Amino acid sequence: MSALRIVVQSTGIDVVPAIIDELRRLKPEWLYDSWPNAIGADYAIVWKPPRALFEINAQLKGSINYGAGVDAILSMASVPAHIPIIRLEDAGMAQQMAEYALYGVIHHHRHMRVYGAQQRERMWQQHEDRANLQRPVVGVMGLGEMGGHVAKKIAAFGYAVRGWSKSRHDVSNVRCFSGESEFDRFLRGTNVLVCMLPLTESTRGIINAKTLSALPRGAFLINAGRGAHMIEADVLAALQSGQLDGALLDVFDAEPLPKDNALWTHPNVIVTPHIAATTPIRDACAQIVEKIERMERGEAVSGVVDRSIGY
Ligand code: NDP
Repeated sequence: MSALRIVVQSTGIDVVPAIIDELRRLKPEWLYDSWPNAIGADYAIVWKPPRALFEINAQLKGSINYGAGVDAILSMASVPAHIPIIRLEDAGMAQQMAEYALYGVIHHHRHMRVYGAQQRERMWQQHEDRANLQRPVVGVMGLGEMGGHVAKKIAAFGYAVRGWSKSRHDVSNVRCFSGESEFDRFLRGTNVLVCMLPLTESTRGIINAKTLSALPRGAFLINAGRGAHMIEADVLAALQSGQLDGALLDVFDAEPLPKDNALWTHPNVIVTPHIAATTPIRDACAQIVEKIERMERGEAVSGVVDRSIGY
């Protein structure tokens, strides 16, 4: 049997040499090419791949998306229907997401923005509510690899947590809601709204004026899903009116966020450059090898993308 041939490609993030080094360490017997130097590959590891990769590698047995989100690869429509798209599942990202979200929850709950502003004015003023130490209720949209872990970790930290997903989930210490019919009820009791959804036709623009108005006044938004989940003008209007007290935003419709975007300078907004969870090369490569080996043995693999629903 000839050695497996793997092609590695990435648009925008310079990770190809590091991925190949790590794969070579794990599977020295496989052959590796970096795109565009590949013809006749068995598997492709890709991030935003061009159509040409699949045109000259039509025999690929699988295209592994080097990340959890598949909106980019699906929107490019470059992978022919007969080649399965397999995404990374957690692979070291869920823990980072939990850290990111917990940071946002605590930032809001413990008035860190206010204390930061006060420090600049050398102002000593306490805002803790000693009589009634109420903690915000955290509502996580999406209870998959990322959202499920985030919800559990925040609940373990002592916050009341609720979660919302398409199908019904059962997560310990998390009050679970599902489907459109329960969305409004989920929102009405959520003080910190955390978006961990995939971007699909049903979730695009889901953080809009109607959604934000269903939250209790003074809510906080954490978006680490995708920028197109938010209608930015609606988020800015909610911040302006006080319906939203603040936001921690990692993803934007246009990335990098344009210099003239009002979110950059809004005093109640923290902008991060799509770093809530980066793909750790070691964990990712270990998972990729495992998936390829399973496929080679003819076994089922998890993480196969259902193109009809978009995740
Ligand atoms: P999963 O596919 O594991 O989970 C998706 C969750 O969203 C599921 O619980 C699913 O419900 C739910 N969902 C999907 N559509 C709907 C809908 N219409 N209504 C309600 N719930 C819905 O994805 P991951 O957790 O691995 O990743 C989620 C997203 O996180 C990625 O797609 C990506 O956009 C983003 N991400 C961002 C990163 C960053 O650094 N900012 C890094 C990594 C990921 P059900 O369980 O019922 O199917």
